[in-house]
Amino acid sequence: MKCIRCGKEVYTSTTTEAIEYDFGVLVVRKVPCYKCKECDEIILTGDVVAKLEKITETMRKLANDVSVVDFSKAA
Ligand SMILES: [Zn+2]
Repeated sequence: MKCIRCGKEVYTSTTTEAIEYDFGVLVVRKVPCYKCKECDEIILTGDVVAKLEKITETMRKLANDVSVVDFSKAA
């Protein structure tokens, strides 16, 4: 897999995603991703994006101002 920005090799890593919605913020930790060695571009796969959307939907219903979850535990 190659970086979408600079075309260099990427490696598997994890990142923290902050998702803002109407009434609060959801922070998802330890999200699996690819990271570029050169420019630090972060690439999320379709699977991960779909799971993040699901987590967002679930957390939305709880209506907390700030929520922090681990990707592996929430997904
Ligand atoms: Zn890059």
